[in-house]
Amino acid sequence: MFFGAKTPKIVPLLFPSLVWSNSTIEKKVWLTFDDGPTPEVTPFVLDTLKKNNIKATFFCLGEQIEKHPNIFQRIKKEEHSIGNHSYSHPNGFTTCTKKYFNDIEKCQKIIPNTKLFRPPFGKIYPWQISKLKKLYKIIMWDVIGWDFKKPTSKEKCYFNIVNNVDKGSIILLHDNEKSYAKLQYALPKIIKTLKERGFTFSTIW
Ligand SMILES: [Zn+2]
Repeated sequence: MFFGAKTPKIVPLLFPSLVWSNSTIEKKVWLTFDDGPTPEVTPFVLDTLKKNNIKATFFCLGEQIEKHPNIFQRIKKEEHSIGNHSYSHPNGFTTCTKKYFNDIEKCQKIIPNTKLFRPPFGKIYPWQISKLKKLYKIIMWDVIGWDFKKPTSKEKCYFNIVNNVDKGSIILLHDNEKSYAKLQYALPKIIKTLKERGFTFSTIW
């Protein structure tokens, strides 16, 4: 695993069938949020996106959608993109393959229209990729806030993004409780800085 905020260039070469960033000559980035919907956190994210008139992609957990259907409906209503992040967030490295695929399928039954999948913890074996890539576009990231990690300060979370972003970047943040305090500080600032630099926010995959 890597712990910088920028995915090392070698990684996409090793895993070329995963999407690590989008190829574009335009100043576009893709904001993505994992692990929701979460009461309080997701509404804050949605409010911030709305204020800034931008769209993002939410990689939702099936069990969170079932617990918080109203928040999920709001994500949809506000025309953000939705991706499958599994039902209960199993670790692809330690979960038996059958159980792992069943968990993903269970989420897919709740959101049948999505073609996007992001592996929980970003952990996925090559043989899992082989099967899943037939069903989904598997979306990773090239810039991560480390917003969910305790030692990451809110300022560091902001700099992790703005110091590493490039044309076509897929930015990973989390609408979960661990990230909330950092997001409250960093998300509006990230959006402001990227807008000032001329970036726009895409949800076209
Ligand atoms: Zn996750």
